[in-house]
Amino acid sequence: MQEKVVESKYAIESPTYQCRGCSGDIAHGASYFSAVFFEGEAFLRHEFCPPCWGKAEAEAVYACWKARRPEPKAPARRRRFDSDLIWEFFLRLGKDLEAAAPAGDPEIAAEPAATTPAVALEPAPAPESPDPALESPPPASELPPAEKVRLRFLLSLLLLRSKRLVLLGSGVQNGREWLRLLEKGAEKEDPEALHLVANPDLSKEDLEKVKESLGQLLQMEL
Ligand SMILES: [Zn+2]
Repeated sequence: MQEKVVESKYAIESPTYQCRGCSGDIAHGASYFSAVFFEGEAFLRHEFCPPCWGKAEAEAVYACWKARRPEPKAPARRRRFDSDLIWEFFLRLGKDLEAAAPAGDPEIAAEPAATTPAVALEPAPAPESPDPALESPPPASELPPAEKVRLRFLLSLLLLRSKRLVLLGSGVQNGREWLRLLEKGAEKEDPEALHLVANPDLSKEDLEKVKESLGQLLQMEL
């Protein structure tokens, strides 16, 4: 089953060039920091002048980078693809979401859907239930925000493309497909290097929308 049509629009294309901390204007040609936060149910980008950036709450930041405000007549351009930034964003989101990943030996997740997983996170749904997720949803507080799931999936695709991650396999658990991804060059047995990523089952069109939103958020060519 596909999730609802993606309506996400994380951030306007252009920075405001106003510091989030002191509300001061960032001058043309001056350096500043951009940082991504998750507020409410959405990812947002804020700008900071260097002194205020030193005081910003690093824990709440999902991704950050240094930039320079263009001169008045210079066209605003997106930055080139930055695999390191995507990687840091992926790891930071993983801290939020890996608690929701299938527990136990990750090899279990590699079993095909027909095999009953040996480790269940929740009681098995009633057989007559057409969609367990709809029939017995966990409390809202335990549901990872859909935006985070979508974005982490897209980040994992970008990291596969840039060969930071290698796809080991996939499996189905709790009605959802999980990708098993290994950091390039890591030992397969290294649990620290293994990442389980939920597939939100988006249409190609919706995935493109998430990608466009991420490009706007990070002001990056993806
Ligand atoms: Zn400031």
